[in-house]
Amino acid sequence: MNSSKTSPSQPPGRQLLCAAWVAPMCGPLLADGAVLVDAKILAVGPRNQLRAQARDAELVDLGDCVLMPGLVNAHAHLELSLCQRPDSLRGGFVDWIKELMPQMPSPERVAAAIDLGVEQCLRFGVTTVGDISRQCHLTRPVLRDSPLRVTSFGEVHAMAQHRDLLEERLAVAADDRWQSDRLTIAVSPHAPYSVEPHGFARCLEVARQRRMPLATHLAETPHEAEFLAEHSGAFGDLWQWLGTWDDQVPRFSGGPIRFAQSLDLLQYPAVLAHVNYCDDGELDILARGRASVVYCPRTHQFFGHPPHRWREMLARGINVAVGTDSCASSPDLNLVDDLRLLHRLVRQVPTAQLWPLITTNAAKAMGFPGRVGSLALGAAADLVAFAVKTNDPLLEVLESDILPAAVWIGGRKIA
Ligand SMILES: [Zn+2]
Repeated sequence: MNSSKTSPSQPPGRQLLCAAWVAPMCGPLLADGAVLVDAKILAVGPRNQLRAQARDAELVDLGDCVLMPGLVNAHAHLELSLCQRPDSLRGGFVDWIKELMPQMPSPERVAAAIDLGVEQCLRFGVTTVGDISRQCHLTRPVLRDSPLRVTSFGEVHAMAQHRDLLEERLAVAADDRWQSDRLTIAVSPHAPYSVEPHGFARCLEVARQRRMPLATHLAETPHEAEFLAEHSGAFGDLWQWLGTWDDQVPRFSGGPIRFAQSLDLLQYPAVLAHVNYCDDGELDILARGRASVVYCPRTHQFFGHPPHRWREMLARGINVAVGTDSCASSPDLNLVDDLRLLHRLVRQVPTAQLWPLITTNAAKAMGFPGRVGSLALGAAADLVAFAVKTNDPLLEVLESDILPAAVWIGGRKIA
């Protein structure tokens, strides 16, 4: 039986996917390997051995490919997929926000934006996404009906004159009516310049109570410390421009990472997007916590931030993943292109240390270790295959611009 022809409600049949190379990410690269799947990973091993064990399975010979787990993008904003990154950054981060605001999709355009984002993910081999969503009541019904595996972080903004909207917005963000086996509901207090300490604390409280993932943008720009302490600088100017400021917002001295620490956010397995600005003391604080960092290399380069300290973070035991961020700050959602940029920036880093950033580490950041991002037994049968010619397939993919030859989610061939 060809599982691709079964109806979505029927479980996929057993298939033996054979390839010149299998990169499980949770174990060594296998030459002439095979992966036995139904909706989950049932076995990984040498082709001949698995063929003998699984004679009933449909044989799919992928030939000269490297077969690996579906890629995990731990930080994206799919609803911004109709946005176009400017050719160059005019002004700074806050000017970019001001330009972006009129580009936010109207409710009628949200479904089209999500469809485009999902299409890009699948085309680029991404099977699991951590999606930040400002209009999550509109994006979740669309995502639930897509084949993609998504953690939907409902975004909360509540500061100054919008303070009183906190509970209403948090209720929408944490609304789990669209939760499914592929769609996980989560919350995201947006950033230290748009959510007050009480708002962060409430988001964390709800996440703890309901065992929900939580993500936030942290230390993305150098302006957060000044804003937290004095309500001045670029974000102070942004609030004046918005015209909805009031003087009841609490102040905090010590920068955004200590701010997060003071709220107990770092003792939660939170996803911290960016962390582009981090001194030695702050690295130590992060290392004592449980939060993961998501570095977005092409977005980071676009804004011209100083070199990211991701290698020092990893050396201190901080979990680091790579994400794309949105089409408003990145050319597209091609997650491998973010890894390719990293490879060009640090050629001395072996590829074996790069691929975990978009597989195992990203899965851990999302709270799914062993369930996605690796070909571990019992993991979801989410896979991607790239056509390769050489004996170093993981390097070859990074040094080319090839797209996946095939993508599976839950054992079904999607692309
Ligand atoms: Zn973001």
